[in-house]
Amino acid sequence: MTRKQKQKPGITIKKLSNELKQCRVSDEPEPPSTNPTGNIVLDSEIKPELLAKWPKLKLKIPPIFLHKPVDFEQHVRKILNMRISFFQPLLGKNYTKITCESFNDHKHMIKYFEKKNLPFHTFGNPSKRKMKVVIRGIPKETELADIKDVLKSASIPVIRVHKMHTKEERKDNTMLVLAVVPYDDEGKKILRVTQLLGHNVKLEPPAIKPRQCYRCQKWGHSQRYCHGALKCVKCAGDHLSKKCERISDQDPLKCANCGADHTANYKQCSHAPNSNEYKLLQEMKKVSTECFKPAQLVTLDNCTALYRNDD
Ligand SMILES: [Zn+2]
Ligand SMILES: [Zn+2]
Ligand SMILES: [Zn+2]
Repeated sequence: MTRKQKQKPGITIKKLSNELKQCRVSDEPEPPSTNPTGNIVLDSEIKPELLAKWPKLKLKIPPIFLHKPVDFEQHVRKILNMRISFFQPLLGKNYTKITCESFNDHKHMIKYFEKKNLPFHTFGNPSKRKMKVVIRGIPKETELADIKDVLKSASIPVIRVHKMHTKEERKDNTMLVLAVVPYDDEGKKILRVTQLLGHNVKLEPPAIKPRQCYRCQKWGHSQRYCHGALKCVKCAGDHLSKKCERISDQDPLKCANCGADHTANYKQCSHAPNSNEYKLLQEMKKVSTECFKPAQLVTLDNCTALYRNDD
């Protein structure tokens, strides 16, 4: 049941009939509330099944991935002498994964790697993470500024909204709008919205696409926190992809990840998370890491047996 929106003076018959139509099709169970402008309708609380569609925010310290072939062991004593505290690292096929004890240790470890010019990547502080919400049901011609204003009028701290470019064909003259809010209680208020500017809306998280770094071409992180070696997506050379001088019908392609003759963003490359080969490898890994020892802090006394697991 929804309450009819507050009428403005000079409202047209067409607008009114649209609003009446919405009243008929709406089947919201909770009594909704409107803000004073009447342009937005919110449920009284967030539906748990809707919130569950977004990944839970984990406030853990982001790991640092040191890129091969750097040998972390050569730096361990120096790092420990700087009183940077970290757990036993994991030695993987492409990276050494290091987790620090605190955010401060993380900051100093990164500084050390930067100073030594070592290739690595990490991730941003999780407390600054944003929540992205796809809004369905808004007509194409709607001004994005109006959407932002109406969300703000309901004290939803929206950071930005933009139109999504999707391959999905939209036959109903609506567009997909992406709204970005802080990942906190205030930001999550957006999940209570059921109507915007007189239109019934549906909310959902954006589809998760595997990320690939534009800087080093490796999968699973973005260039924002990457200090990896610069690699070209086409020829694996140490230059930006847009500066590539490869002649397309003469020089062969070279993948920066596997060395084969395809571009580094080729979806069936064995390093690409959606490739069949990669998926198979992950399945095998899952089995082998089932009985896993918890990590210990590394000290000058125990750092001779540095790594936790060789995989
Ligand atoms: Zn990278
Ligand atoms: Zn190139
Ligand atoms: Zn490849």
